Amino acid sequence: MAVDLIIHASSIITMDPNNPRAQAVAVDSSEGTIAAVGTLADVQAAHPGVSVTDLGDTVLLPGLIDPHNHPALSGLSTQLPAHWIAPYVGFPTYADVTAQFQKLNEETPAGVPLLFNGLDRILHGAPELTNADLDVFFPDRPVVVLDNSGHEAYFNTANIKALGWVDNKPPADPVGSSFGRNEDGTSNGRAYEIGAQLIAGAPVLSALAQHPLKPVAEWYKLMASNGITATSEHTYQSNQLKAYIAMAMAADNPLRISLYHMSFEADCDQPIHTPIPENKLKKQGIKLWADGSPWVGTIAASFPYLDNETTRAANIKIGPGGEGEMNYTRAQLDQILDKLTPGGYQMAFHCNGDVGMDVVLDAYEHALSKHNLMGTDHRWRIEHMGACRADQFERAARMGVGLSMSPFQFIYWGDKLDGEMFPSEIGSQWQAVGDAFRSGAVVSFHNDGAVSPPIPLLNWQATTTRQVPSGNVHGANQAISLDDAIKAHTVNAAHMLGRDNEIGSIEVGKLADFAELSSDPYKADLHKLTEQVKVLGTWVGGKKIDLDAFMAQVEAMDPTEHKDLPQQVHSSKKCC
Ligand SMILES: [Zn+2]
Ligand SMILES: [Zn+2]
Repeated sequence: MAVDLIIHASSIITMDPNNPRAQAVAVDSSEGTIAAVGTLADVQAAHPGVSVTDLGDTVLLPGLIDPHNHPALSGLSTQLPAHWIAPYVGFPTYADVTAQFQKLNEETPAGVPLLFNGLDRILHGAPELTNADLDVFFPDRPVVVLDNSGHEAYFNTANIKALGWVDNKPPADPVGSSFGRNEDGTSNGRAYEIGAQLIAGAPVLSALAQHPLKPVAEWYKLMASNGITATSEHTYQSNQLKAYIAMAMAADNPLRISLYHMSFEADCDQPIHTPIPENKLKKQGIKLWADGSPWVGTIAASFPYLDNETTRAANIKIGPGGEGEMNYTRAQLDQILDKLTPGGYQMAFHCNGDVGMDVVLDAYEHALSKHNLMGTDHRWRIEHMGACRADQFERAARMGVGLSMSPFQFIYWGDKLDGEMFPSEIGSQWQAVGDAFRSGAVVSFHNDGAVSPPIPLLNWQATTTRQVPSGNVHGANQAISLDDAIKAHTVNAAHMLGRDNEIGSIEVGKLADFAELSSDPYKADLHKLTEQVKVLGTWVGGKKIDLDAFMAQVEAMDPTEHKDLPQQVHSSKKCC
């Protein structure tokens, strides 16, 4: 042990119930661990002669954790050379989107292809585009626009020409996906689902291959600048490992990564071999899918959507979806869990609807009992749970199943969910985080990669007030305390990643990962938390992260062995 640094802050919120507040923390930089936590006098007395870094008014928290993300895909679909046009990143209306189309067409050198991501049929009220619609804005260069749902892509005539399709006619539909066609068989500029999207997107994907690690690094930077020091890759496939190792090699790498391998990859139950310490890069679990997305009507729910202009304009299936929207039958789920459980990995099931939740809980109960894991510290978890109920959360709690929730669903879609997509008694309760905490289960929050920007402080603001950015409040009965909201991005999120021995609180022996805040969130007006409290920086393993240095380190890496990454990550199944 060589303690070489004492950090002094105006206050340290430790998230350790035995020692909730402190002023100073001693760090062993060679180990990257915390050696002492307490008053400045106590910490200095324990480690005399060690120099003190005084952070002034800064308030220190454990490094924040987003325990369900998709950094590679998110970087490659939202960061330059891609362009993010989602409603909540500065383009609230379809008119804002088309203004951005015009601006970028003028600013971008002739012939350079453009990729956009985040056109939202519900929130933008955007039309289902055709090549003719896009030709108005982009007469010459290949352009592809990805729908926010991930299920559809739109492209212009220049893109069709670049593809070299004979007579502008798409090839035969790939398995599980399709091309949109006019009556004469020519392309209408639409591709549905991954297989067809990849073929149609080839001209713009090649632009991403110039230096594929750079946009991924931009996503890391975005997460770090929001206080995050640890996250997951929840659509991991083996061909991404090279990229994650490269990122971890950067001296200023700001994120610890936990990998969740997609269950349909043949090697998903195999360990990974890397030169990186597990506290930086670790294979943690298996990602499975129960149902689909609330934004296209593919959730396994017991109730229908409202049949009206909002839902029709977005092509939402009215339902109720019921078990018909499950990706697997119960028998298939039993088979998958039976095969994968002996490997000891944590299971993580994507599930939004209440019917899906019952099936997942039944399958979990069966597998946990059969493999003698009931009552053990198995950490199995469920993701999102937009429409799940208190009794289901209570059942999960009894089984030791963690609730990995998605507050962004009600933050960004709440005004539509509550009264337009569903009757208020259902829509206002979407993401019932209050019920989730009351159940006694471990509850964490995530932003799910490019589905929404990674902003833990906004999740705190919105879950403590149930107020969304428009000012409306949805389901005030589901509001939680600031303590619980912070736990959901610290100790509970560390538990969800199986890293609670390493991170999540500021305690002796844990890794020295910190988020610097401009002021104390407990002294803020919770309705204005994101205005009043700013993230100033992060520390990982006792090192203050320099994000400019990180970007330079990644830029200096040889991109040639990562050329296939864009194609690989865009071919992966979308989460939500
Ligand atoms: Zn996801
Ligand atoms: Zn998901």
